[in-house]
Amino acid sequence: MDALLEEITAIVGAGNVLTGDDVNARRVDWLSGAPCRAGAIVRPADTAELAAVMRACHAARQPVVTHGGLTGLVHGAEAAPDELAISLERLATIEAVDPVGGTLTVQAGAPLQAVQEAAEAVGLQFALDLGARGSCTIGGNIATNAGGIRVIRYGMMRQQVLGLEAVLADGRVVRSMNRMLKNNAGFDLKQLFIGSEGTLGIVTRAVLRLQPPTPDVQTALVACPSFAALTGLLGHLGRALGGSLAAFEVMWQSHYRLLTEESGRHTPPLATDAPFYVILESLGTDPESHGALFSRALASALDAALIGDAVIAHSEAQRQGIWAIREDIEGLIQALAPLFTFDVSLPIPEMAGYVDALEQALARERPGARMVTFGHLGDGNLHISIGAGDAGAGTRRAVERLVYAPLADLGGSISAEHGIGLEKRDYLKLSRTPEEIALMRTLKQALDPLELLNRHKVLPP
Ligand code: FAD
Repeated sequence: MDALLEEITAIVGAGNVLTGDDVNARRVDWLSGAPCRAGAIVRPADTAELAAVMRACHAARQPVVTHGGLTGLVHGAEAAPDELAISLERLATIEAVDPVGGTLTVQAGAPLQAVQEAAEAVGLQFALDLGARGSCTIGGNIATNAGGIRVIRYGMMRQQVLGLEAVLADGRVVRSMNRMLKNNAGFDLKQLFIGSEGTLGIVTRAVLRLQPPTPDVQTALVACPSFAALTGLLGHLGRALGGSLAAFEVMWQSHYRLLTEESGRHTPPLATDAPFYVILESLGTDPESHGALFSRALASALDAALIGDAVIAHSEAQRQGIWAIREDIEGLIQALAPLFTFDVSLPIPEMAGYVDALEQALARERPGARMVTFGHLGDGNLHISIGAGDAGAGTRRAVERLVYAPLADLGGSISAEHGIGLEKRDYLKLSRTPEEIALMRTLKQALDPLELLNRHKVLPP
């Protein structure tokens, strides 16, 4: 690798090839804090430098792993000592904002929050939002097709990307920087790179779609008496709010009670004896009419016994207090460590039965294990946290099988929004047919025949 590193240093400059402690100091797994083990970290300044680096790596048959903000949750950014990490941290410029066309052109290493702020500065909004907004990058969001807390209103990252640029494994640059909503001129090549977790190319720039502003945010926490009431409430709000519902985040009682009463980390805004709690958020323009619409929707839900109790946030501090319960991953880690986390999706009507059956299976096969559940219910997405007492590989496998095995028959998915990475690779066949996996291999073979990009990720060997 030494000769190659010399060649790469000539391309990016000495200060932009990190080795030794500078590599190990980086954490590649947000949950465990595991250090980076790559042979070196390379930090190109722009697409041209990255393309030259990849041409050199291709000639030397050198595998690489792309690094964005390192907030991914499926070990996708892990690199072995014989791999190079390519960090996009120096490609962080917001290149252009077009308020008329509603687009923003950005380099892939820019943090999500910087893009949100740049959109706000011209009176528009970038609709993707998630808890890691300060650290995760647009390239990482594209590579993982991130979801987050606004999906029922605006869709996932895929729906926010109009065009992109990517560097292929051999250093060729594919520019597909479309700025229009409509462009049916042949294959939509950007889709190859969205959600393929850096296995088909390194995303370097993107054209993102902006949305009109929704300055009025109405937030409430409600308690629901049953799962039937919960799904009834989702339908009711969809109708009553006329499409402005943007978040429908459900916490099972186990989750809400643990992070409030039991751990003392948050004051519970509502008593903790209901089976389900939902954070509702609606986005509108006029505070008066939108506020009245939201209150009427909640009142009619109370009348219909879809909710048992509700608290509306009357200030940003109260709103953040409600969200803090749902976003307190630290609290989950403290209470359940060593913690196994799961991100699955399944048809909404199947969710309650799946969670009940999983709790029973855990109690039977892993006595003493503890499970708490929350999720973006409107998107069919559950996040399940399990503390099984030890973090050993055998325990992890046993728990994974309990979580993933029932999903195939229910038409669910082993990954709703976090991707596959290394963590779920062996279970891909539960969510994809042999023909689908074969086609994925064909694409990988066509774009990266030497397996240089994120080797061993996503597709099982
Ligand atoms: P990284 O972690 O650096 O990389 C993730 C994967 O993408 C790796 O395989 C990497 O090789 C590849 N990659 C990164 N950049 C590029 C690029 N430019 N080109 C090609 N491949 C690339 N995810 C959700 O979907 N919804 C959530 O609500 C959500 N909430 C989160 C909350 C917290 C507190 C945390 C820590 C994470 C959360 N995540 C969530 C997961 C994570 O934030 C997302 O997956 C995010 O999109 C990853 O971006 P990143 O820049 O950190 O990517």
